[in-house]
Amino acid sequence: MPLPQPDGDGDKETRGRVLVLAGSVPVPGGALLAGIGVLRAGAGKLQVATAASIAPHLGLALPEALVAGLPETADGGIAPESAEALAERASRCDTVLIGPGMMDEAAVANLTAALLTRLEAGQEGPRFVLDAGALAGLGHDPVPLHRHEGRLVITPHAGEMAGLLGCSRDRVDADPLGCARQAAERLKAVVALKGSCTRIVAPDGRAWAYRGGTVGLATSGSGDTLAGIVAGLLARGASPEQAAIWGVYLHGEAGNRLTRRIGPLGFLARELLAEIPAVMAALA
Ligand code: AMP
Ligand code: MG
Repeated sequence: MPLPQPDGDGDKETRGRVLVLAGSVPVPGGALLAGIGVLRAGAGKLQVATAASIAPHLGLALPEALVAGLPETADGGIAPESAEALAERASRCDTVLIGPGMMDEAAVANLTAALLTRLEAGQEGPRFVLDAGALAGLGHDPVPLHRHEGRLVITPHAGEMAGLLGCSRDRVDADPLGCARQAAERLKAVVALKGSCTRIVAPDGRAWAYRGGTVGLATSGSGDTLAGIVAGLLARGASPEQAAIWGVYLHGEAGNRLTRRIGPLGFLARELLAEIPAVMAALA
């Protein structure tokens, strides 16, 4: 399943428009890492929607993006009332990533549900990557994921998977593949269950495993970069399973390059992102 390659004559629109809905006052950097991940994976155009009080700062840290500030909750997250305006914005994008750096779980669940309800169902709507905060509400089933079947990737770690299935973390550790299959089938989404071995499972049960990463990848913000990379690949035209498989590989190889150059521990999540173009180039 090779990655789609850009048409040499194409402009940025042809490599996809991405909306990253991420960040909060306590964790603004989640939006930054995910947003850079989108662009490092080669997507064409980026918008970030985040809590109003951090938006100007994010705009300066990420000058490549259009940054929209949204009304905030008391905890510095994005208020669910923003769904109407966001749906309008999201409907003009190819891919929407929700979750990195979003801490206010109840508000994120409401916002995600309201947004997915408003967006067009069927094959015409945008594709979605749900990560971190956006996964918290999926276990309780108010989120209308079935409307977007065939267009979803979720990227939980073991703790988030336990929350999703309403089971213990021990059960996920004992049977990661079984849990990923259960979630993929139930949510009709491609699941990338992250860990030292990351399992990628399609809704029909097909499964892949990536064991090639390095322990240094287990660092703060690492998953936010992966979510951005997967969203960027989706926007470039990869299918949900292609985007998950290649995203996990690119992220893991970026860690391996840093391990060789800097050392096995102590590289930063943000440093992974600058490695991505070279890892992609080595594939071509
Ligand atoms: P997150 O917990 O969301 O920040 O994501 C952590 C990232 O690090 C995921 O991509 C995991 O697959 C990866 N990871 C965690 N532990 C290990 C490990 N021991 N070896 C390789 N990769 C890991
Ligand atoms: Mg994470």
